[in-house]
Amino acid sequence: MFSTIKWKFIVVYFLLVFIAMVIVGIFIISKLETQQIANITSNMEQRIETILRSSSYLAEDDWLSVQEEIQETVNEWRLGTNETLYVIFGDEVPTIIASTSRSNHRVIGQNALSINKLDPTLILKAYEGEKANKTGEDPNENTRENHVVYPAFTGVGKVKGVIYMVTDLENVTITVNESRKILTNATLIALLITVFLGYLIASSITEPIRDVTKKAEEMSRGNFDQFVEVRSDDEIGQLASMFNHLTLKLKETIQEMDLERSKLDTIFSYMAEGVIAVDTNGEIIHANPIALELLNMKKIELEKNMEFNKALPLQLININDIDYNNEKTLEGEINFEIDSQVYKVKYAPFKNEKKDIGGLIIVFQDITKEHKLDSIRKEFVANVSHELKTPITTIKSYTETLMDTGIDHELSMQFLSVIDNECDRMARLVRDLLQLSNLDYQKTIWKKEEVSLAKLLKDVLQKLDFAIKEKKHELILDIEDNLPNIVIDKDAIERVIINIVSNSIKYTNDKGKIKVSLKMLDEYMYITVEDNGLGIPEEDKRRIFERFYRVEKGRSRDLGGTGLGLSIAKQIIEAHGGEIVLESIFGEGTTVEIKLPLNYV
Ligand code: ADP
Repeated sequence: MFSTIKWKFIVVYFLLVFIAMVIVGIFIISKLETQQIANITSNMEQRIETILRSSSYLAEDDWLSVQEEIQETVNEWRLGTNETLYVIFGDEVPTIIASTSRSNHRVIGQNALSINKLDPTLILKAYEGEKANKTGEDPNENTRENHVVYPAFTGVGKVKGVIYMVTDLENVTITVNESRKILTNATLIALLITVFLGYLIASSITEPIRDVTKKAEEMSRGNFDQFVEVRSDDEIGQLASMFNHLTLKLKETIQEMDLERSKLDTIFSYMAEGVIAVDTNGEIIHANPIALELLNMKKIELEKNMEFNKALPLQLININDIDYNNEKTLEGEINFEIDSQVYKVKYAPFKNEKKDIGGLIIVFQDITKEHKLDSIRKEFVANVSHELKTPITTIKSYTETLMDTGIDHELSMQFLSVIDNECDRMARLVRDLLQLSNLDYQKTIWKKEEVSLAKLLKDVLQKLDFAIKEKKHELILDIEDNLPNIVIDKDAIERVIINIVSNSIKYTNDKGKIKVSLKMLDEYMYITVEDNGLGIPEEDKRRIFERFYRVEKGRSRDLGGTGLGLSIAKQIIEAHGGEIVLESIFGEGTTVEIKLPLNYV
C-alpha cells in the first residue's frame, strides 16, 4: 500500500512541510530568544545608567566612604523580584560594597571575583571600561540568568567601580516555551492539512493513471473496448487521450489483422493444396484440413506439437537434413506417393518478425490426375505405335517378297490377301482411334432417332449370323413383347451391340451358347449378352474398359481385335445416359449388360 504513488506523494509532502516547519521554528525561536535577551539587556543597562545618574552617592569618587548610603539607595531602588544588583568597588580587589541579594550579609565585603554567582570575566571587562553582558545558568537554582556589567567612571574618566546586575530569564524561557508550543501545534495542524491536501492532489494525479492501468490490464485480456475519461489538459489528460488514440489504432489494426487472418484461414481451409508450417525444431505449427487428411492426423494431435518427422508420410522429406543456416537447402521440390496418390511437394522458408528464419512452409499438391493422364498418354502412344508396327512390318516384308521376281501368281495373290487384311486391320484401328478422339473431344454429332431396339437387335444378329454359324454357336434370343421405341443414335448403338456380341462369338469356343435378351424395367431398356466362353480372369476385369486392354493380346489380335471396342462402347453408352456392366467368371463365361434410358436427350 505504501509503495503506491499516492503514498509517496503524501510522504514527500509530509516531509517537506515537516522539515520546513522545523527549520522555520528553530529560526523563529532562537531569534525570539535573542531578541528578548537583547531587550532585557538594554533595559538593564538603562536602569543602571539611571541609578548612576540619579544617585549623588554613586557620583562620589570614593564609594567606600558612602557605602551605607549606596546600600540604602539600591535598596530603595525599584527592582523586580527576579533582579539582583551588585555594586563593586576597589582598584586592587574588586569588592562588593552593596547588593540587593537576599544573602547580603554573606556577599558584602567579599571579593567579587570569587563569588561564583558572578562572572569574573565580565567584571574584569567592566574594569577595562567596557559594558558587557552574558547569559548563563545559575549553578544553584538551575535557572537561566542574564548578567550585565556597567563601569562607573571618575571625573577624569577612570573606572572607579562596577555595577553588576543579574536578571532571572524565567519569563523569557516561558515565552520561548509558549512559542515553541504554538509552533508545534501549528506544525501538527499544517502536517494534517498537508496529508489531507496531499491525499487529494495525489488522488487527482493517480486516479487517472490507475484508470489507464486498469483499462490497459483489460486490454491485455483481449477486451479492446476500453476508453478512459479525459478530465484535464495537462500531461495526465494527454496521457489519457493518447491511450484512447492508441486503443483506437490497436483496435483498427487488430480488426485488419483479424480480417486478413480470416481471409487467409478461408484460403487455407478451402484450397485444394495441403499446407503445413513447420518451425525450426521440426514441430508442425499449422496444417490446413487437406494437409491433416493427408497426414492422417487430427487437429488435436496438431495442438500437441506433433513432431514433423513423426507424421509418417513426411519422413520422406527429412527435416533434419535441412540446414537452417544455408538458405539454399530450405527451398526445394519433390514428388512422392502416399496410398497411390501422387503429390508434388514444394517447400520454402518463412521469416519471423526479426527477419530470422522461423521454419518451413510445405505445400502438397495432388498431381495424381495429371500423373495418371501423363502415364495414360505415354501408354497410349506406346500402344498405338505397337498396334501399327505389327501390320506395317507384315506389309513391308510381304511387299519386299512380292517385288522379288519369280513368285508365281497364286502365291502373289496369297501375299496380297495378307497385305489387304493388314490394311483392313490398320483401317479399323484408325477408324476406332478417330471415333475415340471424337468422343473425347465431344465432337461426335449424335443422330438421335426413335428406334425399335428389338428390331435393331435382330438386325445385328442377322449380320453376325454367318460368324455364329461358323463357330457352331447356339444363339438364344429372348425379347420381351410390346416394347416401346427408344431415342438413340442407331448406328452408334448398333456398333456397341455388334462389338459385344462379336466378343461373345470370338471369345467362346466352338459350339458355345450365346444368349441375347432385351427387357424393360422402370423407363430403362436392358440388353444382356451372355456367353459360356473363356471368361475373364478376376484381376483383368477391373481394367477391361481401358483402351487397348486385352486379356490375351495375341489371341485378340489374331481374332482381329484392336482392344478399343469395349472402351468405345462404354463411352457411347455413357453419352446416351446409360451404363455398361461386365460380369465374368474365368473359364465359365461372361455377361455384359447394357442399360439405356428410354428417352435421353
Ligand atoms: P477387342 O477388340 O480386343 O475385342 P474389346 O475392347 O472389345 O477389344 O475387348 C477387350 C478384351 O476383353 C478382349 O481382348 C478380350 O480379351 C476381353 N473380352 C471381351 N469380351 C469378352 C468375352 N465375352 N469373353 C471373354 N473375354 C472377353
